[in-house]
Amino acid sequence: MELVINGLSKTYANGVKALDNVSLTIPTGMFGLLGPNGAGKSTLMRILATLQEADSGSAMLGDLDVLRQKQEVRRVLGYLPQEFGVYPRVSAYEMLDHIALLKGVIHDGDRKALVEALLHKVNLWEHRKRRIAGFSGGMKQRFGIAQSLIGEPKLIIVDEPTAGLDPGERNRFYNLLTEIGENVVVILSTHIVQDVQELCRNMAIINKGRLLFAGSPNDALAAVKGRIWEKSIPKQELEAHNASFKVISNKLIAGRPVIHVYDEGRPDGFAPAEPTLEDVFFSHIHGAHQPVMA
Ligand code: ADP
Repeated sequence: MELVINGLSKTYANGVKALDNVSLTIPTGMFGLLGPNGAGKSTLMRILATLQEADSGSAMLGDLDVLRQKQEVRRVLGYLPQEFGVYPRVSAYEMLDHIALLKGVIHDGDRKALVEALLHKVNLWEHRKRRIAGFSGGMKQRFGIAQSLIGEPKLIIVDEPTAGLDPGERNRFYNLLTEIGENVVVILSTHIVQDVQELCRNMAIINKGRLLFAGSPNDALAAVKGRIWEKSIPKQELEAHNASFKVISNKLIAGRPVIHVYDEGRPDGFAPAEPTLEDVFFSHIHGAHQPVMA
C-alpha cells in the first residue's frame, strides 16, 4: 500500500497558492512532512483527509481515489487534526464509545472491548471517566490517537501533533506513535525537526506550497554533507555575516551566536560542522540548497 500524490495544487480565494503542483509517493510507516508555518502542510493534510477540495491533481491510496471516493477513504482514515476546536464536556470513555458507534462498531460487546483496549493503549484508562475538556495538552493528543485508531485505519494523518507539548508529554506521544503498525501509512505534519528525526524513515520538506525535498532523513543529510560550516562570532558581527554568507541558522551558545552557513567550499575562519536535519531544513527553506529529489 502506498499513497501516491500527483500534481496537487490548491489556491485559496484570496489568491494564496497553498499547494503548487506537489507530487509525492508515501510508503507505509511513519512519514514526516516538514515545513515552516504557512508552508501548506495543513492544506495538504485536510485534502488527504477528504475535508477540503484540491483544484487539480490526484491522490491514490492503493486503488482508492482519495479526491473522489471520499466515503470509502473515510472508512480507512484516522485523522488527528491540529486542534479539535471544542473539547467535549463528556468523558473520554463516552466520547470514544460514541465515535466507535459512528464509525460502525455497532455490536455493544465489540465496542466495549475496543474502547477499553484503546484507553489502555494510550494510557488514559485511569482517566476514562474524566471530561476531555479538562485534559492536559498531552492527554488530549493521546485521546486524539485513540480516536484515530478506531476502525483499523490504513491511512493516519497527524497534523502538528507535538506543538505545545512539554518534553515528557512529547516523549509519551512519540512512543505511542511508534507502536502504530508498519503496514499503515502514517503522515506526520510538523514544523519541529526533532519530530521527524526521531520518528520518520521517510520525509519531505515543503515551503510556500512547493516540494523542496523528498527522501529519507539519511539522504537529506548526505545531500548537505561537507557544505555546512560553523563559526562562533560576536553579536555585533551577525549582520555583516548575514550579508556575506548564506547563513542558515544561528544559535546562542553560552551567550554568543554560533552561525551555520551553507557553502560548497570552506569559508575563511569557519570550521566544518556535522550536518543535522535542522541544517538540511533551514538550507532548503532559505533557498541555499537546490531542490533534491531522492
Ligand atoms: P501550514 O499548515 O504549513 O502552516 P497552511 O496549509 O495552514 O500551512 O497554510 C498555507 C497558506 O495558505 C498560508 O499562507 C495560509 O495563510 C493560507 N491559508 C490557509 N488556509 C486558508 C484559507 N482558508 N483561506 C485563505 N488562505 C488560507
